[in-house]
Parts: sequence; structure tokens; C-alpha cells
Amino acid sequence: MGFNQTELNSIRAVLDAAVFAAQRHGAQKRKGAAGEPYVNHLLEVAGLVASALTEPDTNLVIAALLHDTVEDVGVAPQEIVDRFGEDVASLVAEVTDDKSLPKEERKRLQVVNAPHKSRRAQMIKVADKISNLRALLYSPPENWTYERRKQYFNWAKAVVDALPSPPPPLKAEFGRTWQIFQDGDYLGYLLSAESQQELLKRFPPKYSGVKADHVTFKFPAARGDAPPPAPGSARVIGYADAGEGVEAAVVEIDGTTRRPDGQTYHITISVDPARGKESAHANDLLRERGFQPVSALEIALEPKILRKGD
Ligand code: ZN
Repeated sequence: MGFNQTELNSIRAVLDAAVFAAQRHGAQKRKGAAGEPYVNHLLEVAGLVASALTEPDTNLVIAALLHDTVEDVGVAPQEIVDRFGEDVASLVAEVTDDKSLPKEERKRLQVVNAPHKSRRAQMIKVADKISNLRALLYSPPENWTYERRKQYFNWAKAVVDALPSPPPPLKAEFGRTWQIFQDGDYLGYLLSAESQQELLKRFPPKYSGVKADHVTFKFPAARGDAPPPAPGSARVIGYADAGEGVEAAVVEIDGTTRRPDGQTYHITISVDPARGKESAHANDLLRERGFQPVSALEIALEPKILRKGD
């Protein structure tokens, strides 16, 4: 298959922008534990934008590749004008935050300004948010709590919901990605009915939302994931409650309390829904407060693919 001259020029221009972005973002990595090169994010955003185009728009794909160059690596807007033209530069400007403002104010302004974004800038915005949520699902920064991730998801949704006319396929993909955090599948173990009774006898629930039903192995599940391996031994060895609406029992599975994703194996015993607490907040409790050892209680666990919210 051959390209005509116009197509060839477009491909060259897009690749020029990709090389420019890769060089300028240089050694920058995404914040996630996987430390992905930043250019992966730029290519993902440009790919999402291109996938949603209904007519050719080379400049928009180029702007998607360059969308973080001014904000993150200090490229001068004039350099974008000189290299890629006014149209690309104005698209990049439309999706660039004012770094002189405090972070919380910049985030608030993204929601406030969303209704005024051009149709093309909206495409970059949604694609950027999809890419960021995917990163937070599958490679979250190690120092981010569950609560912080949850707040980011909800802020991203507020921005996307305020865009007047994002392309339906991108909006739908954003919705699917957002939803995984709310009620996606995960890998874990169900507690047997008998073990649940013993656990609740030992630790009578302190809060009104009684859980005491599972141990998470990995959240969220990736496509094609199988249930975790059956444990050789499982026992409760610790307990945590900071009086803030979440209590949890720490579980040792085959001699370790450390989950493959770095969190701690646990059973959330109960939560206080009135304080906005849900099972996953036990991760923050254990990370920030640790736990007290208790005399061991053997439990029976069944490997399962579970669904958050069930
Ligand atoms: Zn970005």
C-alpha cells in the first residue's frame, strides 16, 4: 500500500512531533510504580484522539503529542508556533494549566473552564483523562492512598462531565475506565461462612456497615486474569482500627501479609458509610497506622474473581 503525497506529509509531521515530544520529555517518567517513560502517555493520548477522528486532522494529533510540553517540561509556546504553527500552538495552549497557580486552584479551574473548550481541545482533554485513569488503575504511584486515587477519579469525571461535546466513543471509554474503579472485577478470596462467624465473634463489628467477607489479592483484575492460587494456609494475625470509620483484620497467607501489589492482606470487618468509608479504605488505614498483633485465628479462603460493590 502506498501513501499519496498529502498523506505522507501528514505522517512525517506527526512523527516529527512524536520525536520532538520524546526528546523534550526525555527522562521524565510517569508517577506510577512501573515508572513508564512519559512518552508512552503522549502516544496513548494521541492514539485515542486519532481513533476518534471522523475526518483527517493532522494538527490535532500533533497537538495531542505535544499537549504536556509547555506545562511539564517548559517548552516556550513560541517554539511550538515556530515548529508546528499557530493552530497546533493554540490547541496546546487550550489544554495547558497555568503553572503559576496552586495545584488545587488549577484543578478547580479545569472544571470551571471545561464548558468553554473548543471541540478539538475537548478531544485531547478526554483522551488525557482516560490515559491518566488507566495509569491510576494499573500502575498507581506507590505513595498514593486509596482515598487520593478516589478523589482523582471523581475530579477527572467532573472535568469530563463539564465538557459540552466530547466525541461519544471517547466519552464512553472514559466512562468504562472510571467505572472499573467503582465496581470492577478483582481477584481475591471469599471467607467461608464458618470463618466469617468466628471472625465476627472474635471482633464484634464497631461500625454499621459490616463486611467481613473477603481478602483482596489484586485490584482491579486485568483482562484474562485467573483467580489467585489456593492458599496453603491462611490466618488472621492482626487487627487495626483508628476510630475513623474503618476496622480490619490483617491476614497472613502462606506466611506473608504482603500482597503482590504491595498492600497488606486483610479482611475489612466493618465501615461507617456515614463517614464515606468503604472496604478499600482499609488499605489506607493499614498503610498509615499499621496494626496490632493478635493471637492467630485460622480461616478458610476460597479463590475467586470478585466484583467490587457486590
Ligand atoms: Zn497529559
